[in-house]
Amino acid sequence: MVIDLRSDTVTQPTEAMRQAMARAPVGDDIYGEDPSARALEERAAAVLGKEAALFVSSGTMGNQLGLMLHCRPGDAVVIGENAHCMLYESGAGGAVAGVQFTVAGAGGTFDVADMEAALYPTAAYYMPRTRLVTIENTHNRAGGVVWDQATAVAVAEAAKARGLGTHLDGARIWNAAAALGVPAAELAAPFETVSACLSKGLGAPVGSVLAGSAAHVEEARRFRKMLGGAMRQVGILCAGGLFALEHHLERVGEDHDNARRFAEGVAALPGVTVDLATVQTNIVLFEVADAPAFADRMLAHDVLLSPFGPTTIRVVTHLDVDAAGVDRAVAAARAVTGA
Ligand SMILES: *Cc1c(COP(=O)(O)O)cnc(C)c1O
Repeated sequence: MVIDLRSDTVTQPTEAMRQAMARAPVGDDIYGEDPSARALEERAAAVLGKEAALFVSSGTMGNQLGLMLHCRPGDAVVIGENAHCMLYESGAGGAVAGVQFTVAGAGGTFDVADMEAALYPTAAYYMPRTRLVTIENTHNRAGGVVWDQATAVAVAEAAKARGLGTHLDGARIWNAAAALGVPAAELAAPFETVSACLSKGLGAPVGSVLAGSAAHVEEARRFRKMLGGAMRQVGILCAGGLFALEHHLERVGEDHDNARRFAEGVAALPGVTVDLATVQTNIVLFEVADAPAFADRMLAHDVLLSPFGPTTIRVVTHLDVDAAGVDRAVAAARAVTGA
């Protein structure tokens, strides 16, 4: 059997989840008549500690709605280095929301001083207006690292004090919450809007949510329609997301244990460098001499992983990989490195 460690998006819905989806009561959600969509949105709002939530087709759509809610075309968004919004959304920030990004700090996370250094002067009408501060928690490209919550609160408060909007790209907020041992709602609280994925660590086949105030979510519903994201009997999909929230949220920490098990296993191998301090959640980044060649040789042992740069490999643990699978992947790495 192939062990797929490329991403936490590769999970298969469980039999029980498929049953829940197949049996879901549905209606036309554009008429507001889908009970399964309502149930998921209410549950997601509660878990994220917001007034309301909206089911969206992807994390990308959730982030774009966040940008559109807070900004007008031409506005600038302060964001951490290598943010998903900049790197992995096909340029939608510019093309769809019409914003431009100003990078704060280095390495993905940033502090209040970094944020302030990234603001455009407000007095100059001929410069872009900075309207929004966005953070990503956990930060994918930085290796699933978790924001220090005091820093996140300080950044959000400084943004609000300047009249700026605040958005949290919480695609993996569940992982951040599990790592810190706090409810996701506590991490979302400082931010007006939050997007969160159902189709990563939680193992649903499709979808994300955007949560915030009732007013923001009503406006987001309009924007979602504009983007073609309003769907009819969407409860079939929402039922998978609801099942994931009800049954898989509790176990996210197991993925973190497995990521650490993998990281410690390969750290001892010759030619492999892992910074164990960055292994905080379900993502492991490690360095090898030639990442594409390493990935090819691992594939020969039925282990899939992602080259993330010329010398960087990313491994992500998830619902469909257990400790025994991790041990097999480590054994394959041992064989590949000749240890
Ligand atoms: C995966 C991810 C998203 C959303 O991705 P989709 O593939 O559009 O669902 C957004 N932000 C981060 C940090 C992600 O890792």
